[in-house]
Amino acid sequence: MGYTLMHEHIYLDLSKVKNSDDCLLNSFELMVEEFKQLKTLGVERIVDVTNIGMGRNIPYVEQVQLQSGIEIVSATGCYKAPFLPDWFYQQTIEQIAQRFIDEIERGIENNGRKAHIIGEVGSGFEGINPDEHRLLQAAAIAAIETGKFVTTHTSLGRFGEEQLDLFVQMGLNSDRVIIGHTDLAGDRDYLFRLLDRGAYVEFDTIGKLNYQPDELRADLFSQAIKCGYQSQLLLSLDITRKSHLRANGGIGYAYLFEQFIPLLFERGVTEADIEIILQHNPNRILQ
Ligand SMILES: [Zn+2]
Repeated sequence: MGYTLMHEHIYLDLSKVKNSDDCLLNSFELMVEEFKQLKTLGVERIVDVTNIGMGRNIPYVEQVQLQSGIEIVSATGCYKAPFLPDWFYQQTIEQIAQRFIDEIERGIENNGRKAHIIGEVGSGFEGINPDEHRLLQAAAIAAIETGKFVTTHTSLGRFGEEQLDLFVQMGLNSDRVIIGHTDLAGDRDYLFRLLDRGAYVEFDTIGKLNYQPDELRADLFSQAIKCGYQSQLLLSLDITRKSHLRANGGIGYAYLFEQFIPLLFERGVTEADIEIILQHNPNRILQ
């Protein structure tokens, strides 16, 4: 298997909560076109971390996979407050976990397509609220039961350590957890604390320059590589809006290869490092 982008969305609908049509990602033709270009850059697989409550649309995903030739991995789980579905509030942690387990073992929405990762499950800007606490506990139970990885959402990159604490308390090893959006924290010490604990750390908002310059992302990422953490690092773009696509004036998926990876090379990162991060690590996680 060639390169894998570990944190993307194929069909995503956060438009109601965010009150913006741009947050309905449904640009089928444009996405297929970009995915075909990604194939020429070595990408063979994309992990769709869209789950229950985010507008997950399995028939659509299967069409994108068919038309683009890129393998798409589906996910189970729920996102974070306030995107949790109504049934979430009526069920015990064990019942919620069982729903995730069923999507891994039996398939999603009677479609037969199975989930291979649990996420993105996450928390908000203020930390892990009580509902999110239950969500992350259910994710841990499902991960332990199925052997699948948990991939998280952190708001502005924060509270990854608290997420990890919770998973470890539940009995899930930190090396089975991917802490997402960690680049947004822009904090070297925080990044290294997560790595020292054995978690995977994902820089998955590459190119979102409204949050921070990519030079800072490249500085932090290359420092982690220089310290020997290659086998715990992951890269993705988390394209979530119509306006992120290239034809709509956005950066597009190829930005990772055309703009960001060259910044890493300037900082001494090697082709072999990139192969570990985009190929070997995803292969290990998704095996
Ligand atoms: Zn996210």
